[in-house]
Amino acid sequence: MSGDGTRCVHAGRTDEPRPGEPLHAGPVLASAYHLGPPDGDLPVDFYGRSANPTWRALESAIGSLDGGHTLLFSSGMAAIATLLRLAARPGSAIVLPADGYYLARALAADELAPFGVEVREVPTAGPWPEGVFDGATLVLLETPSNPGLDVCDLAELSPRVHAAGALLAVDNTTATPLGQSPIELGTDIVVGSDTKALSGHSDVVLGHLTCASEELAQRLAVMRNRGGGVPGPFEVWLAHRGLGTLDLRLTRQAQNAEALATALLEHPGVRGVRWPGLPSDPSYAVASRQMRRFGGVLAFELPDAAATSRFIEASALVASTTSFGGLTTTADRRARWGDQVAPGFLRLSVGCEDTDDLVTDVLSAITQAVPSQP
Ligand SMILES: *Cc1c(COP(=O)(O)O)cnc(C)c1O
Repeated sequence: MSGDGTRCVHAGRTDEPRPGEPLHAGPVLASAYHLGPPDGDLPVDFYGRSANPTWRALESAIGSLDGGHTLLFSSGMAAIATLLRLAARPGSAIVLPADGYYLARALAADELAPFGVEVREVPTAGPWPEGVFDGATLVLLETPSNPGLDVCDLAELSPRVHAAGALLAVDNTTATPLGQSPIELGTDIVVGSDTKALSGHSDVVLGHLTCASEELAQRLAVMRNRGGGVPGPFEVWLAHRGLGTLDLRLTRQAQNAEALATALLEHPGVRGVRWPGLPSDPSYAVASRQMRRFGGVLAFELPDAAATSRFIEASALVASTTSFGGLTTTADRRARWGDQVAPGFLRLSVGCEDTDDLVTDVLSAITQAVPSQP
C-alpha cells in the first residue's frame, strides 16, 4: 500500500510509457465528438457531454483516493444539484445540515420544497433525535461543516440513515479524500467541490460525486448527461495537475493551521477559535477518530465586521476572498453570505506560506485591528 504522496502523484496516470510520447497526455481539447462507425456499437467516446478521456483520467484518480466510482461535474453545485434531483420525490424528505454550504440549502428550500419535498435541517454537531431520518430518501451530511467546522460521527450515523431506507451522502470538500474516507464509514455517495483544496490553485471551478456502488454511478452518469452540468476538459486537466501535490499542500497547510490556531487561542483580541485538530475543540473527539488529517481551514471571531476589515488591511499575507483551499492564505467574513455566524466571524483558508512568516503576520495584523484590549 503506497503512501498519500505516491498515490496523489500517480493517481489516474495510466498512460503506457512510450518513447516520443508525452509523459502525461494533455487535455482532449477542441473536440466535441469523436469518430464512430456509421452503424453498430458506438465507441466509449463519441460525444463530449457523455464521456471523454480527459475526464476518465481524473475520475479514475479521484475514484482511487475516495474508494469508489467517480463522476466529474462542472462545479460542486452541479454535483449537489444532480444528487438532490436523484432523491427528490413528492411527499418524501431530504435531510441537510443546518450549518452546511449555504447554496445547497437554498437550492433545496427554493427549488425542491415547491415540488412537495420536505427539507429538514439538522445542525452538524447534533443532536440527531430519534426518528429524524424517517421518511427521508437522502441524508446529505457535511463534516467538517463549512464554515463552522463542526463534525458529525459517520460510523454512528450511517447505520441509522440506512435503517430508515435513505441514501447517505457526505460533502467531503473541507476534509478532501486524504483527510477522511466517508465510503469506508458507510457512506453511499461522497460529494466534493474540487474548486477548493483538491485542485488547490484557485483557478478551477469543478465538482464530483463518488459512489460506493457502480450501479448508482451509472444512474448518475445518465442524469449528468441529461442535466448537462459537465466540465470542460481544460479545467479537468488543470485539476489533475493540481491533485499531484495535494499531499504536499495539505501537509503544509495543516502544519500552518495548527500553529496559527494555537497562537490565536492565546491572543486577547480573538474569540471562538475553531480547528478540529485542537485538543480543546468541541469537534476534536470525533475528528481525531474519523479524520486522518485536520486540514488547513480554521475559523475565529474578531469583535465586529470593522475589525475584520482592519485585519485584512493590516495583513501583508492574508487576502480577502471567498472560497478556500488554495496556495495563498485567504479570509472570508461569512456573515456577508448570510451564514448564521457572528459579524466578526472569519473563515481562514491557511495557505502554503512559511509557518513563522504566517503566524507573525496574522498575530501582528490582529493586534493592529483590535487595539484596545481589556
Ligand atoms: C464551495 C463548496 C460547495 C460548492 O462548490 P462549487 O464548486 O463552488 O460549486 C459545496 N460544498 C462545500 C462544502 C463547499 O465549500
